[in-house]
Amino acid sequence: MDDSAASIADFIGPLRVAPGSKVRLGQDFDPRYRAGLKKRDGVELLRSGVALLAEYQERLAAQDTQGVLLCLQALDAGGKDGTIRHVMSGVNPQGVKVSSFKVPSSEELSHDYLWRYVRRLPARGEIAIFNRSHYEEVLVVRVHPENLIRQKLPEQAREDDVWARRYREINDWERYLTDNGFRVVKVFLNLSEEEQRIRFLKRIDLPEKNWKFSAADVRERRHWDAYQRAFSEMLSATSTPWAPWYVVPADRKWFARICTAAILAHTLMDIDPRYPVVSEEARQDLRTARRELEEEAPCGAAADPYEAGHGSAGGGTEAGRGRAKGRRGGRG
Ligand code: ATP
Ligand code: MG
Repeated sequence: MDDSAASIADFIGPLRVAPGSKVRLGQDFDPRYRAGLKKRDGVELLRSGVALLAEYQERLAAQDTQGVLLCLQALDAGGKDGTIRHVMSGVNPQGVKVSSFKVPSSEELSHDYLWRYVRRLPARGEIAIFNRSHYEEVLVVRVHPENLIRQKLPEQAREDDVWARRYREINDWERYLTDNGFRVVKVFLNLSEEEQRIRFLKRIDLPEKNWKFSAADVRERRHWDAYQRAFSEMLSATSTPWAPWYVVPADRKWFARICTAAILAHTLMDIDPRYPVVSEEARQDLRTARRELEEEAPCGAAADPYEAGHGSAGGGTEAGRGRAKGRRGGRG
């Protein structure tokens, strides 16, 4: 592990939920934690994190054997949208696909509960982001069990402990994805009750933020304690060695963003994707193509202006230049 990989691992270490540990959110994780950093440190850190992600994403796409799924969970006003916008600001949009999961449609409800998430998984070489995820199935559905009725489960599938079973199924599914080359990265943006209150008020007070306000969010807030319990149980049951949870302190948006960038960067560095090595046969094709292109150089132009500008020492160029010169002479 090089220095930057080691310091990223140290930085995100305290946010990781140790597999098998029992989480009590209110006591174990502080939404205001900021690792001793100041907001002005955050700007530079985020910039380098974003640059790192851009580089690794390009390599991931070039390697084309593994994919990454980033699941973002939070309570309303937790900052999911802003986190996605900032953290992914440097990556090539072609390699990233973001899916937001809302109240399920009737088509989605007539399938098994993981169906709609399976359809949005990353392909090899891609990063997929779930803005809310399959974890809603053990969060909102648990806090409001009437959702389970809407899911039209047959009676025996509602009997036993449906939540324990869903945890197991989700763990198995993530294991399956991991075994097949898809990393699952899970981030919970941990917002305090007071910070949520302040953010809701801001959405009411500032006209340009009014569109973000929803009365339903305030109704949901009345279930704060039930959500904290559901989150705590979910974190305890589904932080696994293959797909651990990270609890990101979310009261300071700038800090939540650098943490999320660091967590994603950590995963990509661990994958360490490489540009494919060009075979001898493909290299031969490159040489042939270069000769052909050099011979097409118009009169007065360098045979290979790119190489001329960069002064690289590519093999075979002298021969190419000679031929191009000859041809230009013939034309002129
Ligand atoms: P934003 O408010 O920033 O646009 P959001 O993710 O809160 O983003 P909304 O449309 O406000 O989007 O809310 C989506 C709602 O859908 C949430 O209340 C969430 O709990 C609910 N939801 C998501 N998945 C499920 C599910 N499987 N069953 C029932 N409700 C769900
Ligand atoms: Mg909302």
